[in-house]
Amino acid sequence: MEFTDLKAQYAALKTSIDLRIQRVLEHGQYILGPEVRELEEALAKFTGSRHCITVASGTEALLIALMALDLKPGDEVITTPFTFAATAEMIVLAGGRPVFADIEPDTCNIDASRIEALLTPRTRALMPVSLYGQVADMDEMTAIAARHGLAVIEDAAQSFGALYKGRRSGALSTFGATSFFPSKPLGCYGDGGALFTDDDRLAQAAREIRVHGQSGRYLHTRVGVGGRLDTLQAAVLLAKLERFDWELERRAAIGARYERLLAGVAGGTVVERVAVRPDRNSVWAQYTVKLADRTAVQAALQAAGVPSAVHYPKPLHRQPAYARFAGADPCPVSEREALRVLSLPMSADLTEADQDRVVRALAAAVQATGTPGTPGTPAAAPAATAA
Ligand SMILES: *Cc1c(COP(=O)(O)O)cnc(C)c1O
Repeated sequence: MEFTDLKAQYAALKTSIDLRIQRVLEHGQYILGPEVRELEEALAKFTGSRHCITVASGTEALLIALMALDLKPGDEVITTPFTFAATAEMIVLAGGRPVFADIEPDTCNIDASRIEALLTPRTRALMPVSLYGQVADMDEMTAIAARHGLAVIEDAAQSFGALYKGRRSGALSTFGATSFFPSKPLGCYGDGGALFTDDDRLAQAAREIRVHGQSGRYLHTRVGVGGRLDTLQAAVLLAKLERFDWELERRAAIGARYERLLAGVAGGTVVERVAVRPDRNSVWAQYTVKLADRTAVQAALQAAGVPSAVHYPKPLHRQPAYARFAGADPCPVSEREALRVLSLPMSADLTEADQDRVVRALAAAVQATGTPGTPGTPAAAPAATAA
């Protein structure tokens, strides 16, 4: 069993993917070829954004968004410490200061109610992360931003395809930034990413920054980066889009099945899960449970041949490179959840038989360690419904 099954996906799409790649090899426009524009049009339409600007990776998307917003040295960007390093890393690389706000204990997304206390005259932007495939509280975030004249960048690296109050992740704020890293919900066969915005001026800025700040050939009107998406990766993504709606349905069904099986249905073992709010869904970039004795459970799963992963073992304000940004919010919830979270195998091609194996191994491990949730509290999580 694979943690993320990319081989079954390739087998299913082989004819289209091979054909699309072959066409690129024949026309030879490896840089910003016709597939890049075709993909941008398809993704803009899919998300409902006015503009899509494809870029070299999700990390690059975050950097280019911050550069397009003209972040100045010392500008503060409020974000979550419970994320992959790239989120805070790009704020620092762009000259800014990440200011960490703690997370909600049930969803593990940034807690919007903690943001206003962290605002200072230097605050320029909010950068929520739609963690594990579920959009953060974007309406609350954009309301705060509107009151204080801030930009909002959604780090949607894990949530491409997710719905929030009927709208798509990525199209909910000043910028949405996503990743096409192979294991993300929409992945290519290497690095890739995209930015979404409705703002014509910011879209133009991002397009120029992506090609070394050029507004015309060898006319460098701003400082940029080499941040284009390869034509070959665009070709792969176009082929993958053909069954992306089906993949979203499969992910929803597999996620819902995990929910049922781990909620103690039919006398099964109750395992606490990350909650999903009723006004949105999760595309389950990760299917994540919470355990009191994660180390023991993970070892037992490994012994049973079930792969698992920790996203993420340390909040960023506890990482050596970012500890100097530990600030006014001590982020105790992030620290606690970082010790408890464990992600289980998840992909559109996960079979029911394999999923049953995962659940059986997890139930056995949890019963053997005798500590399903938080020590001293009942294990049952609040009902988590995938809309
Ligand atoms: C994967 C990821 C990124 C970075 O994306 P890459 O394409 O790997 O550069 C950024 N933020 C989050 C939350 C991610 O999960």
